[in-house]
Parts: sequence; C-alpha cells; structure tokens
Amino acid sequence: MPEGDTIHHAANRIRAVLEGCVPEQILTPQARHRIDDWPRTLAGRTVRSVDAHGKHLFVRFEGGVTLHSHLRMTGSWGVHRRGERWRRARQRAWIVLRYGDWDVVEFDGPVLELMSESRTRTHPQLAALGQDVLGERFDEGRFLARLRADDQTRPIGDALLNQETVAGIGNMWKAESCFALGIDPWRELRHLADGEALALVGHARAAMRRSVDAGHPPRAHEVYRRAGRPCPRCATPIRRREQGENNRVTFWCPGCQR
Ligand SMILES: [Zn+2]
Repeated sequence: MPEGDTIHHAANRIRAVLEGCVPEQILTPQARHRIDDWPRTLAGRTVRSVDAHGKHLFVRFEGGVTLHSHLRMTGSWGVHRRGERWRRARQRAWIVLRYGDWDVVEFDGPVLELMSESRTRTHPQLAALGQDVLGERFDEGRFLARLRADDQTRPIGDALLNQETVAGIGNMWKAESCFALGIDPWRELRHLADGEALALVGHARAAMRRSVDAGHPPRAHEVYRRAGRPCPRCATPIRRREQGENNRVTFWCPGCQR
C-alpha cells in the first residue's frame, strides 16, 4: 500500500504539471464513471493547488471544487508524457487530466471523488485525520495527546497505523521505524515512554522525507518483507505476524527489539 511519502511524491509531480493551469482535456475512461459528469464539472477550471495529507491527495480547482483520492491497496497516480506507454491499461484509468505534453492519470481508484472545498474540511474521515507525518511542522504535544487518547493496551506497531493519531505511516514505515529504534511492535502503549514514541515518529518523519526527496521509497529494507532472513543487527531470524484489527502484517526481530 502506498504510504504518505509516495503520495507526497505523486502530489509533487502532479503539481509540477497542473498547478496554475486549466487542463486542456479531462477524460474518464473507466466505465464506472460514464454516469458521472466530471469532465463537464471541471471544464475550464484552473488547478489552484495540489497537496497531500497523509495518504490522501487533493487536486483543488478554482470555484471550490476538489478532487480527492485515497489509493488504498490498489490505486496509483501516474504522470506520463503524451504518447508514452502507461503503466496500466487505459480502461483502468478513472481520470485523465491532460495539459501540454503530459497526462496525469489516476488508475484503479478505489477512492476518487469530487467534493466541495468545504466538504474536504467536514468529511468525517478527513476531519478526524491526525497531523501529517510529513507536514512542514510537527506538533509533538498534539501527537502524544492523540496517542495517549488511544487504547493503551494497543501494541505500538498497530497504534502507529491509526491515521487519527498521525497520518501517513503505513505498514512498511511502521516496521522499519520500530526496528531502527529497537522497539518491539508488539509492546503495548502503556509500556512505551513518551520519548520512545517521539523517537519512533521522528525516525519515520526523517526517513519518509528522504524518500520524498529521492522520488521513490527505499528498495531495500531491514525487516519489512524479510521474514526468516537474519536480522542485520543480531542475525536472529526475522519474524512476521498479522497485527491489529485489520490484520496488517508486521515484521520484527525478536532478538533485538524490546
Ligand atoms: Zn535483531
């Protein structure tokens, strides 16, 4: 699943093509959207801004109309030079925004909706989001307050995925950050000191910023998707197990993560 760094990188690429421009053509090849009237609603409107908050991406048009996307497990944004082969089949494109030499394409949804600017602030899921792990500033007090408002018997690995506590961290950055700090993702919040929680989120923030700057997430991992391989720190075999209410897989070293 794309995490916050991937979404911010997509927003940066889309912004470079569309911000301040009126898309020359808007297409909705995916059959699901034939009943929608997006091309007409958006025709002639300037893209005011493109931004991301956690795993959510917003293309904001003039006149208070915003395209909101969340890629979940299946979706993807592509920025393709006109005529270049797309990464996925045309009929999987939910929207194509054309400008100059570029096609900005959203593939496979699954959450893509037009909403009013004010709705982006009152939409229950969006309004509940915690601060963005990649935000310009990070309010540590606010993060801790939300973390401590959560169930304190919840394991930290699961709690870091709660987008209402902090937005943008997914499975990979959770596992890698817990490993980097030597913290067992199964440790319950009540046994985690504030300083440890801040170190975890601080590590995720720095590593995810480097990923945004690099333009892609790291290709090599310490523990993520390395079950059975030796831990790079202590050589104990890395373990994998489902965690939390959504059964998201976690990876950790039982030898050096406490
Ligand atoms: Zn280890």
